[in-house]
This record gives sequence, C-alpha cells and structure tokens, in this order.
Amino acid sequence: MQAITVLGSTGSIGVSTLDVIARHPDRYQVFALTAHSRVDELAEQCVRFRPKLAVVGTAQAAQALQQKLKSSQLRIEVMYGAQALCDVASADECDIVMAAIVGAAGLASTLAAARTGKKILLANKEALVMSGQLLIDAVAQHKATLLPIDSEHNAIFQCLPHDYRRSLPDAGIAKILLTASGGPFLKRDVSTLDSVTPEEAVAHPKWVMGRKISVDSATMMNKGLEVIEAHWLFGAPADKIEVMIHPQSVIHSMVSYIDGSVLAQLGNPDMRTPIANALAYPERIESGVAQLDLAQIGQLFFERPDFGRFPCLKLAYDALQAGGSSAAILNAANEVAVQAFLNQEIGFRMIDQVIARVMDKLPHGPVADIDALIEQDQQARSIAQSCLSL
Ligand code: NAD
Ligand code: MG
Repeated sequence: MQAITVLGSTGSIGVSTLDVIARHPDRYQVFALTAHSRVDELAEQCVRFRPKLAVVGTAQAAQALQQKLKSSQLRIEVMYGAQALCDVASADECDIVMAAIVGAAGLASTLAAARTGKKILLANKEALVMSGQLLIDAVAQHKATLLPIDSEHNAIFQCLPHDYRRSLPDAGIAKILLTASGGPFLKRDVSTLDSVTPEEAVAHPKWVMGRKISVDSATMMNKGLEVIEAHWLFGAPADKIEVMIHPQSVIHSMVSYIDGSVLAQLGNPDMRTPIANALAYPERIESGVAQLDLAQIGQLFFERPDFGRFPCLKLAYDALQAGGSSAAILNAANEVAVQAFLNQEIGFRMIDQVIARVMDKLPHGPVADIDALIEQDQQARSIAQSCLSL
C-alpha cells in the first residue's frame, strides 16, 4: 500500500489522479489533498478519500473547510499556506507526490518532495522549466524519482530504453519528436487573433484542462515549455527536440533512433493514461480510459509549426538556447501575461509581446540557488506587470 499526496487535487490533473486512485484501493491510499480556494470540492474529496491532512491557501479557507468537515466525523487535520504544502509533500508517511499545482506556486512543494526522496509524478511543468538543473540535481542527490505526467513526456518516457541515462547519443537516439495539437487557433486567420476572447482560447479541441494551460496551448507556449521540460527530463539539446503538429492528438510523442526506427506512444487523449502509467511504473494498471479504436480514427495528420503564427514557441526555444535564468524569466512573464489575458486586460497577441519585452529588458544570468531563482522570477513578474499597459 502506497500513500499519496495530491498537490492541486481540485484541478483537472488532481481530479483525474483521484479517479485512477479510486480504481485501486488495494494499492493506493491518500495521505494529503491540497487546493487553493475551492473548499467545497476539497471537502467532497476529503469525505470520499479520507486523507490524514488537507491543505488550503488561507486561514479563512481552512476555517471554512473545517466547518464543512465537522458533520462528517472524520479526523482530518486542516492546514493552510505555502509551508503546509511543503510539509505534506515531504512528510515521512508519504511515498508518492502528485505535483499538480499550476505555475510557479508549485515549485517549493515539488522541491520539498525531491529533497525528501519521494516518487514525484510531475504534472507541474512550470516548476521544472523554472528550476531546471536545480530540481534535477535535488532529485539525483536525494535519490528521488521523477516521472513525467505531461502526456508527451510520459509518451517519450515509454518509448525510451528502460535503462535510459539522460544521454541521447548513448541510447542511439537521433531526436525526440514532440507532438502538439496546435490548439484552437491552428487554422484561424492570424489577423483576427487579437480579438479572440478568453472563452475561445480555453476551448481546446482535444483536451479538457485548467484555464492557464489551455491558454498556453492556444499560444503554443505550452509546447515551448514542454520543449524545455523535455530538455531537462531527458538531457536532450534544443536542436534534438522537434515539435510536430498532429491535430488528432492520438500519438502523444515519438522517439527517433539512428537506425531509422521511430517509436511512438498512442492512446485516446485522456490524462488518466499517463497518470496510471507513472503511478504504477513499471507495472501497468487500469486507468478507466477506453481502448484506442484506430479504424474509427482513420487518418493521422502531421505538419511543422509556423513560428509566425506561434511566436511563443520561438521565444521558448530562444530561452532554452540562452540558458541560465532565461527559462524562469520566460515562465514568469508568461504567467503574468496569461492571467492578464484571462482578466481581459490585454489582447491575445499581447501575450507574446509582453514576454518578448521582459526577455529583452531583464538580463538573464546563472542561477546559483533557489533564492536567486525566486529573485529573477519576481523581477520578471514586476517588469511584465509594467509592460501590460504599453
Ligand atoms: P487547474 O487550474 O485545473 O488546477 C490547478 C490546481 O492547483 C488546483 O487544485 C488549484 O487549487 C491549485 N492551485 C492553483 N494556484 C495555487 C496556489 N497559488 N497555491 C496552491 N495551489 C494552487 O490546472 P491543471 O490543468 O490541473 O494543471 C495543473 C498542472 O499540470 C499545470 O502545471 C499544467 O501545466 C500541468 N498539466 C496539465 C494537463 C491537463 O490536462 N490539465 C496536462 C499536462 C500538464
Ligand atoms: Mg502536454
């Protein structure tokens, strides 16, 4: 029996994770659940999964949760705040941490899990994009295990040799082919993009996800962040990671070997597959996802991305090439710009412009430690804020 902390349990990934866990009560028990503000959903999850601990964002939310749990007679300790997230991610009783908080807010708890040698299921790509080598080193130093939940990276993980050691040449790999759906605006007239609404941008054709990652998919910054994520997870240089648009989202990514073989992982677009894969690795367990019906799908299409239509993808490649704190600056500027777009403060095409301005204005440098990283993140956010009104 393994004990799991689900960070961000009320989100899209969190809910899918609990769905898989519920199918295997003989294998997994929930140790802690966390949510930022959705107390009602968290209370329902607490009643169903009976964790030892529940964490929310504020004292007020904690009080509200306690109130809701009173009638259930459950003995669940309620905590709140950033330190509590780290505590439940690093507690001795916890074996597995699902890192499914969105954005930089998930960095500290993911690091806390790494530093205590947990098995980390990483959905929170922003944490790895920001911290790069620091997180990879913490995982190695404390003998933690980092398993990718992002569907593309989980697909690549499944297509790599079992003893893969973060070197493409040693494994005879020519390149990684990262597939992308292209999002809702793949075929839309570029000149009309500035008038798209948040609701149009979050209406992803293939995946149902949180609002931030949905906007990232529409700008293709999501794919850019995933290129950086693949770099760190698999030790792959930028020029060996090729993005391939594949609108059906049936192939979740591929690995191309020097002998001409290309291995792909296919499946219905449902995050419960990568979640089940990482949870039970190296075993296989049922996830609730229907078997793929290829005859019904009929045809698969591929095309190269157009950087003119998707400037965010180019900005992410540039940040990866530049190294140091560039990716953290890119990520911070993107988080601010996406939130401003969702709040209807800026237009869709302003997202890439804000990020480009921040990258220009803030010189990137080496990141010696987490404090230096947080400092760069904060500076990038404040410059991004000042760029919103330009
Ligand atoms: P979501 O918005 O649906 O859920 C986010 C979760 O994080 C919620 O539980 C929320 O309470 C919590 N949260 C938000 N802000 C917080 C804060 N400041 N402090 C603590 N908790 C906070 O997002 P999602 O779609 O589930 O995505 C979660 C992560 O997984 C993201 O990093 C995303 O890129 C990644 N991811 C998601 C999908 C997907 O299909 N949804 C696929 C691949 C990767
Ligand atoms: Mg993905």
